[in-house]
Amino acid sequence: MNEAAFAPQDAAALLRWYVDHGLDETIGEEAIDRFALPPPAAVAAALPSPAAAPAAPTPIRTPIAPPVARPPVPLESPKLAEDARAVAQQANTIAELEEAVRAFEGCALKRTAKNTVFSDGVAGAPVMIVGEAPGADEDRLGKPFVGVSGQLMDRMFSAIGMSRERDLYITNILFWRPPGNRTPTLAEQAICLAFTRRHIELARPKIVVLAGGTAVKAVLNTTEGITRLRGKWTTLTLDDGSEIPALPTFHPAYLLRTPASKRQSWADLLSLDKRLKDLGVR
Ligand code: URA
Repeated sequence: MNEAAFAPQDAAALLRWYVDHGLDETIGEEAIDRFALPPPAAVAAALPSPAAAPAAPTPIRTPIAPPVARPPVPLESPKLAEDARAVAQQANTIAELEEAVRAFEGCALKRTAKNTVFSDGVAGAPVMIVGEAPGADEDRLGKPFVGVSGQLMDRMFSAIGMSRERDLYITNILFWRPPGNRTPTLAEQAICLAFTRRHIELARPKIVVLAGGTAVKAVLNTTEGITRLRGKWTTLTLDDGSEIPALPTFHPAYLLRTPASKRQSWADLLSLDKRLKDLGVR
């Protein structure tokens, strides 16, 4: 690939496109142009004219890289993340936490955002949904998941008889819209996550649904991609030692771009419904 052919914003858009399609992990340092490679042995053997076909090449071995670690958070952020954690820990109710988030000046995203987007739905509901970050509509209205992807999410949950007016509590790992909807940096995530973890502790949901790869990686502190984790129940351990069942699932914005994946999300919703019934919540 000719690096010079990509403007930074195009490269960022391409990366975003890959992530949206579930390609959220690298498996090698070097890109491999598979169109330029000779065909593998099995394909060569199936070529129509054995006489004209090239000799079967040596099988190609793709180098397998070790699992990709979550890159280290930039140096200035641990202090801000610690500040956020200290402030969050002082909150003993969701109202106090919301007040603390609104007063917090340690995340630069706040300066470019129109609104602080804290939560929507019913505090104390059995299911708490944690998404990534407010988009333009959320920023304008000050509520999470109110744009087109949020409307899809509402329709999906209503298919299993759940609504934000009655059964859902909704938030994001970020309280402020990243400019241009860019993916939040790890530093921004680390700072806001301190509040989000406390938010989950105070809301005490029976189940946490993590919507999209960014929220999953941040909340579960994992490098595993959403395509591997979605639909697999896990346990979220909070700072107070409490444990909450957590279900990673695709982000609704991804489903809008990749409708074929709705089948898997439907399976996730059915699994959620069953788990709630097993817990005696429904
Ligand atoms: N996407 C999210 O992750 N959260 C929102 O609130 C809106 C869109």
